[in-house]
Amino acid sequence: MSRSTKIFQASTSEVYGDPTLHPQPEAYRGNVNPIGPRACYDEGKRCAETLFFDYFRQHNLRIRVVRIFNTYGPRMHPNDGRVVSNFIVQALQGAPITLYGDGSQTRAFCYVDDLVDGFLALMAAPDDITGPINLGNPVETSVAELADMIIGMTGSRSKITRRPLPVGDPVQRCPDIAEAERVLGWHPKTALKDGLARTIHYFDKLLGSHGMSA
Ligand code: UDP
Repeated sequence: MSRSTKIFQASTSEVYGDPTLHPQPEAYRGNVNPIGPRACYDEGKRCAETLFFDYFRQHNLRIRVVRIFNTYGPRMHPNDGRVVSNFIVQALQGAPITLYGDGSQTRAFCYVDDLVDGFLALMAAPDDITGPINLGNPVETSVAELADMIIGMTGSRSKITRRPLPVGDPVQRCPDIAEAERVLGWHPKTALKDGLARTIHYFDKLLGSHGMSA
């Protein structure tokens, strides 16, 4: 009997919306505002999960669904707009660090190599392990703390400048990774400080080589 190809869905912690449960386990159904500014992405990813599971039920498709939490590392795009790349680029250029809101909102940042290890473990796992499975680093950090860490590690003279918090910005987000630990034996290995050091090194070379460094 021919077997279908395994198909991987890169889903997201955004399916949990602005969560009311912390940390978020896979069984949590989320708190998404369907008409909010982030909804197109959030609901789009939720719909994709729905389709994956319909195909799994109806056609026995070999699915693997991962809910990816905030990930960072070398090779991010400098204008990507996400917090780690923004703060590092700003710090290296001596530009103001754009802190949205009061910076007390939290995220849990996973280093890219750890995430990829999780993907590989899931793809190699037996077919009954479909997910959805959370992959992320459960160490929660506030955005203000992240700004301080990056300013300290780069030795930057950049000052923090406050900007309005975007509408619908989740207050707190942190993965419950008990399932990934149990079924995949996976746990992220890279401490935020070490991952940031590698990411800062990457951006320093990238910006330096374009004559953009402060
Ligand atoms: N953020 C910030 N300054 C920036 C970019 C982002 O303070 O220059 C904040 C943003 O409001 C959010 C957090 O950092 O609370 C993470 O933002 P990101 O876009 O990286 O990820 P997401 O919100 O999708 O988790």
